[in-house]
Amino acid sequence: MKLIFLGPPGAGKGTQAAVVSKTLGIPAISTGDMLRAAIKEGTEVGLKAKSFMDAGNLVPDEVIIGIVKARLQKPDCSKGFILDGVPRTLAQAQALEDEGLVFDKVISLEVSDEAIVERMSGRRVCSACGEPYHTVSKPPKAEGVCDSCGGELVHRADDKAETVRFRLEIYHTETEPLKRFYQERGLLHEVSGTGRTIEETTQAVLRTLEE
Ligand code: AMP
Repeated sequence: MKLIFLGPPGAGKGTQAAVVSKTLGIPAISTGDMLRAAIKEGTEVGLKAKSFMDAGNLVPDEVIIGIVKARLQKPDCSKGFILDGVPRTLAQAQALEDEGLVFDKVISLEVSDEAIVERMSGRRVCSACGEPYHTVSKPPKAEGVCDSCGGELVHRADDKAETVRFRLEIYHTETEPLKRFYQERGLLHEVSGTGRTIEETTQAVLRTLEE
């Protein structure tokens, strides 16, 4: 199964991709996580990406396309994968298509801008393993500590309200047109990512995948 999870920043793509990845036994590939890891390791990609990410801007397409192509070559992708946070521009979507990749479904998690801004203020992420948390909807067992690895939970600089509004603008101009791109290919499925629990959204996503 080759899947894409689309949606604004903070829609729950990472959270849902992690559960679906476990359920289906295929890796979830998050370009955001890969870029944060590259920054931590101080690689060339990390150096290129950092200033764009800190400002809430998109990282240039050629950087993204390069890391995704390399990741998809790895053996764990042979049975399928979930792309979380990529493609984010038409150029990225076109590049994946030009690689001959054929997707089974594109799930668009629908959440309003107001709900996103509210949500992001409570979002925390493990600085060690990337596991996402939320102070209200998914609190860790011990405050500030990752349940999975014991790492420190942090509020990402790009999750601050001002940056979130800017990232939402970019989402609407650069990424939302992808819905039409995939609708034209008969792949788009919209799933509400708001007004219910994380588990209920997961069930809705899994039902959509079974259809
Ligand atoms: P995320 O964790 O998916 O919210 O991504 C965090 C940041 O990484 C974004 O705000 C962008 O700066 C950068 N990023 C992640 N994925 C992409 C992508 N596919 N295209 C461009 N920039 C990306």
